Amino acid sequence: MARADDQSGGVVDPAEAFGVVASETRLDILEALWRVDETPVSFSALFDEVPLSDSGQFNYHLQQLTGQFVADGSDGYRLRRAGAQVIRALRAGTFTHRPDVDPIPVAGACTRCGGELAAVYADEQFAIDCRDCGTAHGEYPFPPGGLVDRDPEEIAQAFAERVRHLHCLAADGVCPECAGRMATEITREGDCCLDVAVRAEFTCQRCRHRLCSPVGLSLLDDSTVAAFYDDHGVDLAARPYWTLPWCVDDEYTTVASTDPWRVRVRVPVADEELRVTLDGDLQVVDHERRGC
Ligand SMILES: [Zn+2]
Ligand SMILES: [Zn+2]
Repeated sequence: MARADDQSGGVVDPAEAFGVVASETRLDILEALWRVDETPVSFSALFDEVPLSDSGQFNYHLQQLTGQFVADGSDGYRLRRAGAQVIRALRAGTFTHRPDVDPIPVAGACTRCGGELAAVYADEQFAIDCRDCGTAHGEYPFPPGGLVDRDPEEIAQAFAERVRHLHCLAADGVCPECAGRMATEITREGDCCLDVAVRAEFTCQRCRHRLCSPVGLSLLDDSTVAAFYDDHGVDLAARPYWTLPWCVDDEYTTVASTDPWRVRVRVPVADEELRVTLDGDLQVVDHERRGC
């Protein structure tokens, strides 16, 4: 099977592509095309949107963008996908923001000691840490753009939603960053940001993006687990992962075998327990429900 970048044509040298957009005026042009309600946009209408008074200069910069970033049709200009991606990355704040965020107190108590939890922001990641015993309840990327226009409670909620989706995507083999193929590995070796002995590690084969999580986290979108919570009157989708002990703690996870991998996760709710068995790719192989 041919890969996209093996085919000649259609692929621009990355250094050249970054060079093309490394200009305030060109970013203004892309931003203007992104902002307008209707495209294509005529040359004069686009010129009016950009803070530049010299139309010759404007034309020069616009020409540099056409092809890779901007499509030039008979009826005007519109953003191409690469142009929209540049603007999205800027709006997500990935290249520009270095925000200072105070730790945000979050709902729920430490599953280990009952202490207070806080979401601590550094390096474009939130870490859910216990203020009392210091236990780390996971550390996951959150672009600075997500901090804008949200109060602390909304930020914590958005972070919880994002973690759920990132991990379910990764467990399904799709990189949340680049859509490349993601490999799953269950491991007990080495250290990471989590205080657990058994964890799942996801590595993108294309962009090398990595995520790690307790095995239980991949069960957040499992329909049997959701139905089990539903039977107990709890909406699983509304619970931040750090309030679910089987998503953060070790003692709910047991390695039954390593060849092949069989990992059991206990999911207790009230007086019942759901026992879920997963294989080395985090696919569920068995559910067993029993009263305690
Ligand atoms: Zn604690
Ligand atoms: Zn990737």
